[in-house]
Amino acid sequence: MTTMVATESRATDEQASSETGVPKMVYYFGRTRTEGDATQRALLGGKGANLAEMTAIDLPVPPGFTITTDACARYSGAGGRMPEGLMDQVRENIAILERETGKRFGDAKHPLMLSVRSGAKISMPGMMDTVLNLGLTDDAVAGLARQDGLERFAYDAYRRLINMFGDVVMGVDHVRYEAEFDKIKRKYGAALDTDVPAEGLKELCAAYKKVYKRHVKRSFPQDPLKQLELSIQAVFKSWNAPRAVTYRRVEGITGLNGTGVNVQTMVFGNMGQDCGTGVAFTRNPSTGENKFYGEFLINAQGEDVVAGIRTPQSCDKMPKWNKAAHDRLLEIKDILEKHYTDMQDIEFTIERGTLYMLQTRTGKRTGAAAVKIAVDMVKEGLIDEAEAIRRVKPDDLTQLLLPSFTPASKKGVQVLTRGLPASPGAASGKLAFSADEAVERAGKGEKVLLVRTETSPEDVDGMHHAAGILTSTGGMTSHAAVVARGWGKCCVAGAGDLRIDAKKRTVTVSGRRFGAKDVLSVDGNTGEVLVGEVKGTEPTLSGNFATIMKLADKFRKLGVRTNADTPADSKRARDFGAEGIGLCRTEHMFFDPKRIICMREMILADNERDRKKALKKLLPFQRRDFIGIFTAMKGLPVTVRLLDPPLHEFLPHDGESQRELAAEMDVPVRLIRDRVRALHEANPMLGHRGCRLSVTYPEICVMQTTAIVEAMIICKQKKINAKPEIMVPLIGTKEELRQLRELISETIHAVRRKKQYRGKLNIPIGTMIEIPRAALTADEVADVADFFSFGTNDLTQMTFGYSRDDINTFLPDYLNANILDRDPFQSIDQDGVGQLVDIACRKGRVSNPKLKLGICGEHGGDPDSIRFFHKVGLTYVSCSPFRVPIARLVAAQASLAG
Ligand code: PEP
Ligand code: MG
Repeated sequence: MTTMVATESRATDEQASSETGVPKMVYYFGRTRTEGDATQRALLGGKGANLAEMTAIDLPVPPGFTITTDACARYSGAGGRMPEGLMDQVRENIAILERETGKRFGDAKHPLMLSVRSGAKISMPGMMDTVLNLGLTDDAVAGLARQDGLERFAYDAYRRLINMFGDVVMGVDHVRYEAEFDKIKRKYGAALDTDVPAEGLKELCAAYKKVYKRHVKRSFPQDPLKQLELSIQAVFKSWNAPRAVTYRRVEGITGLNGTGVNVQTMVFGNMGQDCGTGVAFTRNPSTGENKFYGEFLINAQGEDVVAGIRTPQSCDKMPKWNKAAHDRLLEIKDILEKHYTDMQDIEFTIERGTLYMLQTRTGKRTGAAAVKIAVDMVKEGLIDEAEAIRRVKPDDLTQLLLPSFTPASKKGVQVLTRGLPASPGAASGKLAFSADEAVERAGKGEKVLLVRTETSPEDVDGMHHAAGILTSTGGMTSHAAVVARGWGKCCVAGAGDLRIDAKKRTVTVSGRRFGAKDVLSVDGNTGEVLVGEVKGTEPTLSGNFATIMKLADKFRKLGVRTNADTPADSKRARDFGAEGIGLCRTEHMFFDPKRIICMREMILADNERDRKKALKKLLPFQRRDFIGIFTAMKGLPVTVRLLDPPLHEFLPHDGESQRELAAEMDVPVRLIRDRVRALHEANPMLGHRGCRLSVTYPEICVMQTTAIVEAMIICKQKKINAKPEIMVPLIGTKEELRQLRELISETIHAVRRKKQYRGKLNIPIGTMIEIPRAALTADEVADVADFFSFGTNDLTQMTFGYSRDDINTFLPDYLNANILDRDPFQSIDQDGVGQLVDIACRKGRVSNPKLKLGICGEHGGDPDSIRFFHKVGLTYVSCSPFRVPIARLVAAQASLAG
């Protein structure tokens, strides 16, 4: 019924507006007409749209009106001039309000009192605070005070108005009012504000008006419409206040034209013991439990709840005080949830026993709550399965899977500096300055944080033992970041303010020095480095998590694999739902102390025979690793990438380690030094690595292929369905892949003959696409490839020409200058790098329609990138084990989005 009225009146207003040439800038909500609804968030702001919606569904909302965000945009566009005709429309709406409430604005007998609140489309701290009790003047307050039992209330309301209006609208410092209040309290011997009697408050109003006049140089306005006009202007102005602008920039909020202004009839929670006010969630926002969760204060205004001056009581206690109000609140809770089909965050006031709703909005919730609420609401029939998938945010799952610091646990803790949030999670620990130290101290039961300028493959053991990792250089695809993400270990990388002295075992930040006994904390979700220990929250996985994952699998088209190179990681990823391994980096297998020595022998060998001898020693290790991984992933494909990094990464670079190695291998130290020098490259990421290694040293490729095939045969003989795929890294031309494919195929056949294996060995051979030339000539490359897997870390590096390890030296400047809007190593650059992916997919599929297409760069775990990969039609994404659930969810959301 109300909605019908709304539609009719809107049409009439629009006609009226077009006749006068002035657009409609004010939307009324009340018993007699309601002009807006919940869909008009952009025009009316979130708060305004929901006030209209609640009114339309007959909930008890004090009547009022909303000034549009367009009006705010006009105000800003005109350099701070009120839009023409706005105040006329405001006056017309005040008149409707007066008719509806039977009160008059500025009246001495029944004064209409209003609140003014800002409200943009997205709820946004940093804009104007509330002004309450607007419309009170010297006359009106005197009239109000004459009413039965309202004297104290009237002057209390007036002093609050003079204070708030002065502070919020005219910029009079709040402390100036406080000083006057203290004087009055002393005079009346009052300990609390509430102990001051009516006559004291009357005196206080006079004192406040003097403060106002002294600072504003004008008297407190006695024209209620003037009060309102100035308040509306203040809200408009606050849209472009520095703190609001900063907030929007930090949160990446764009595309909004301004804030709405909500002008609403006051209801009072502070008129006596039968009044109160509160805030509540329709379900528990931390656990998601379907139980009303709120707090209220008797005889108080909304601001008192938020300000924390008095401790509110749980709404569970409300029936004892006012059962009818509590019943009504629960009834409204059900109506709101049914109507909005989501958990709501509400504000309410009870005036002389009657309940009023002041706000409703979608309630913020923890990850665990988001998952539980989505699952419960499907069961309750409030939403369907697809909607449940849309409701859970990727970050909700991150929160669920990894330990985290809550805002409460970080309260009062000093943020020392910031780096990149390279791997989510949270950790505190005493500082360890080398991998060995981390291993040793962690072995003794200490919780350590590994602090390094950057990490290298040699540090993996230390990284594994540390609770968290902190580096001063390196970006989102630096070694530390990639490895840490793979393990679900927290890492903050590229914290450029850190001055690390690994020898002295100290780190200095802005003049403060920390040593091995000091504790720092790192928040991998925000990049913050904090002083001292912060208590973390450990994750717990519920059955609801599994339900959401199962639903996601029902909707998604994109496959989800994982990047893993140990049986333990493979198993974890499989438990998280990975459908195979998309990238098994074989180099990580060489760093175990027993293996690194063989690897180094191989690198130091100066002829093929010695190299082969060393490789022969490595073969059993690799074979065993593959057996472990194939077994953990039985029945699922495992893409094994042949050796990729430049060989110098396997040799020690400092003198002391080189001497130790020389002694261990019984060779002159000169030999090692010379080899390191010979392997030195000015630009190692563009150097002798990837498939180039196999071209120069085919025996490496042969050994790795042999290990893969032998492991496969052993598994098959044990009835374990091993499904390896062999992937060649970093190819740029078809010929590179053609030749290596031939070598790999020959090796497969040779092993098969040698092992006299007669069963099927169907091993797809494919390549990574990580060099722009490979993407551009994908049709040729696809002739000799069974699959492509986009190595978007290197592809980004080579498309932009940004070093993936050093980008952090200039990335902050690029972000500040809006040259980049985000780190392209974190989220795929869809226009440039993404275009290459798209081209390669199309060209590749034309020449080889059966070509499988995957992505195994770090972007495989990034929600926006996953949506893009869905769009270009990849077969699967491959990401670190802890991102697998997120990828499953986002892939489903991408399918649902069409
Ligand atoms: C890549 O380049 O995207 C990739 C997955 O390989 P890596 O990170 O090991 O170079
Ligand atoms: Mg690569």
